[in-house]
Amino acid sequence: MAKTVVAKEIAVGGIVQGIGFRPFIYQLAEHFGLAGEVSNTSTGVYIFLEGLSENLDAFLHDLQTKPPVLAIITYVEATDTVPKGFKQFSIIKSEAGPARATLISPDVSVCLDCLKELFDPRDRRYRYPFINCTNCGPRYTIINDIPYDRPKTSMAGFTMCPQCQGEYERPADRRFHAQPNACPVCGPQVQLLDNQGNAIFHPDPLAHTGELLKQGHIAAIKGLGGFHLAADANNSRAVSLLRRRKHREEKPLAVMVPDMDAARELAKISPEEEALLTGFRRPIVLLRKRLPEALAPETAPNNRYIGLMLPYTPLHYVLMEHSPKALVMTSGNLSDEPICIDNQDAFARLGHIADFFLVHNRDIYLRSDDSIVRHSAGDTRFMRRSRGYVPVPVFLKAKAPPILACGALLKNTVCLTRGDQAFVSQHIGDLENLETLDFFRLTINHLQRILDIKPRVVAHDLHPDYLSTVFAKELDLPKVAVQHHHAHIVSCMAENQVEGEVIGLALDGTGLGTDRAIWGGEVLICGMRDFTRAAHFSYVAMPGGNMAVREPWRMAISHLKNAFGKAFLDIKLPLVDTVDYAGIQTIDQMITRSINAPPTSSTGRLFDAVAAIAGLRNVASYDGQAAMELEMAADPGEDRPYEWALEGEDPMVLLTAPIIRGVARDVEQGRPVSEVAGRFHATLVQVFVHVCQVLRTKTRLNRVALSGGSFQNVLLLTGLTRELEGRGFEVITHKICPTNDGGLSLGQAMVAAASMDQ
Ligand code: ZN
Ligand code: ZN
Ligand code: FE
Repeated sequence: MAKTVVAKEIAVGGIVQGIGFRPFIYQLAEHFGLAGEVSNTSTGVYIFLEGLSENLDAFLHDLQTKPPVLAIITYVEATDTVPKGFKQFSIIKSEAGPARATLISPDVSVCLDCLKELFDPRDRRYRYPFINCTNCGPRYTIINDIPYDRPKTSMAGFTMCPQCQGEYERPADRRFHAQPNACPVCGPQVQLLDNQGNAIFHPDPLAHTGELLKQGHIAAIKGLGGFHLAADANNSRAVSLLRRRKHREEKPLAVMVPDMDAARELAKISPEEEALLTGFRRPIVLLRKRLPEALAPETAPNNRYIGLMLPYTPLHYVLMEHSPKALVMTSGNLSDEPICIDNQDAFARLGHIADFFLVHNRDIYLRSDDSIVRHSAGDTRFMRRSRGYVPVPVFLKAKAPPILACGALLKNTVCLTRGDQAFVSQHIGDLENLETLDFFRLTINHLQRILDIKPRVVAHDLHPDYLSTVFAKELDLPKVAVQHHHAHIVSCMAENQVEGEVIGLALDGTGLGTDRAIWGGEVLICGMRDFTRAAHFSYVAMPGGNMAVREPWRMAISHLKNAFGKAFLDIKLPLVDTVDYAGIQTIDQMITRSINAPPTSSTGRLFDAVAAIAGLRNVASYDGQAAMELEMAADPGEDRPYEWALEGEDPMVLLTAPIIRGVARDVEQGRPVSEVAGRFHATLVQVFVHVCQVLRTKTRLNRVALSGGSFQNVLLLTGLTRELEGRGFEVITHKICPTNDGGLSLGQAMVAAASMDQ
């Protein structure tokens, strides 16, 4: 008896375009002897299949279990239908539809197949720095509109040569419909110039750039998501020069090394960290330095960690062949401005920093900084989620209406929602200048276009002066103002797909509270829509407002005065010797008379104060530096907390004065910093575990969410997770979005969504 032919229509959603999905389907259909067709649609991919029933089942199984590496399949909907009598399988041209719910792939590193060709002297793309295929290469940064087709990308101006066109049209080819497909004959080219814009003619500009770097010069190098500034990481003179010219005093610089062997010479690397370094997303990975330090000490001064990355574009691979073994590769910008992406702009802004410019003529439509991750407390933690990850959405537990969330001030990102997906943008930066504000606006427009989202509501921070708030208020949309720490906790809940209420520990730098004070050491009983403030650190003055962030000694004075009263001047601390007496008196007066000294419960500022009291640092050259140095100084084995106390009930107030008295006494008695810092960390862990226990009894909530910038502190994150879990709490933390303000926009969007469905 002849077996009957059956047919199915299959719709696939997710990241299924521009990543070799149709060739994969084509080959799978051929493999199982199935006929039909596949095409891209505005919502994903449509497949019509006919053949024997068991072969269709096998096809569906493989489709879901062995998709291409870059694919993220969110749904497969198969419905039975009537066979149409197809004789073969084919790929149909895509049509732009009205709804554009498809997902765009992030930019990913060059694949192994392309790498092999890149270094094969017989290959026609030998050492061609723009080699790519459907499994690798640029995506998000070159797309201007959707559907993702070449004319909608910055490759539009390059007409493929017959050979490239042939690859592009052959379904079985690795470059079938690879939109950025190119070769030395038809594709983008590099050019080396001096900092006046004069071309430097050299048969091998990449090798020559490497030589110039070896001689100690600084080069601006156009990459995937923007320019880098490069210098020999073994050359103290070159690194110091780069720092001076870029106005970047001490903040660590990222380093690119050619391979894992070179990485291992510089850092201790666990298998998880190796997987992050070598994976196709290629972030900067923060790793423990190997000592004695091999690189120029100026690369990451006073830091136990070094940020390393491996090459991720073919251009980097060719460059690294001739370059110094370790290259500082830091964002091509002046401190606080967005990275350069445009050649002319780069000459204007980086001309006084770089001696040479290695540019190319493939435009970058949307800048995307390197992502920064670390592996800690058993998971990948993002300090910055950008290139390689964006625009992969955060998948939500429930559908949300279309919302734009504008983020806060520092490390700004924005977020747009569509159905059960939240798109958190790449890192935009600190919204403190016009250049960053422009980038912020551009990103919002760009994301709305390529995601086809028209927001119905805009969410923003409670702070009226943030540029993100000012922007939101100008939009002709209903507005939802979201308290900063509420947004932090909800962000953590959303990425963990948690609903209902949690105990939220928001340990953070600064965020405006509902009482106009500056919050940052908050325990919230928190749902998506509302929160109550269950506990917080006692208020102290923040003398000089934002000046106190740059100058931790101000917070030290404030906390000491709060703990000891007038008598604080009599305590023998290193601080008193290193800050001039007039300065201390001024701060003292500001606090006494409440002049520009707003009250704060900030955890970040408490860390700053303790770091300054312990003699580690009076003035910070970048955000969070003092707190980070206190963490690195701490003896992780130290488990004797300082005395602490709670006051009141609704909310409970965690008194910082006894803790500060303990710290000051130890410092006065000459106890080592490692002990003081260790005991301080142990104190915070004990205090917050206690508060959670009290709140569990009161509310019957057993789930604790940890969020806020202070959880970048590994000791605090691991200590609290361990101690809470040890007492039966369920602890949720950030694994997809940064715990710092980079994750805030997601939380804002979810609060707005919750306030809409009522
Ligand atoms: Zn490839
Ligand atoms: Zn070509
Ligand atoms: Fe924050």
